[in-house]
Amino acid sequence: MIEFACPECRTGMTAGAAHAGLPSFCPACQSPVQIPGSAPRRPAPFHTSPHPATSGGRQGSGAVALTYGILSLFVPLFAPAALSWSNRALREDPTDGAAKAGNALGIIGTVLLVMAASAFFIWALWALSAATSPAPPPPPRMPATQPY
Ligand SMILES: [Zn+2]
Repeated sequence: MIEFACPECRTGMTAGAAHAGLPSFCPACQSPVQIPGSAPRRPAPFHTSPHPATSGGRQGSGAVALTYGILSLFVPLFAPAALSWSNRALREDPTDGAAKAGNALGIIGTVLLVMAASAFFIWALWALSAATSPAPPPPPRMPATQPY
């Protein structure tokens, strides 16, 4: 159903979608009108929601970011996903609390990830040096003459 207004008297009219673009007459003032090709009040740029119902999608991004953020505290490998999702959600809605929380958790997760990677690196270096360094001398043997 297409909703539009008479250009002369602003009377609201509706027409079936099948009549889009066809000429008609205003029932109130009888002036000729053209049924618009698509419903008015529906500018649908790619980056904005066509109608408010899809604002749930934004909250979805924030919720996903928060979920990844919480996960990244346990599994730091999720931190990049948390940052990515929260940045995306914050671009769409900078006031999204869940996205902010997800972003903060993502940063914490990234720090944990870096720390874990550093710890592994240091451990690997230590293990490598321990493997290549000569073994410590064995403790002196007890004298064979020790009585039983
Ligand atoms: Zn009219």
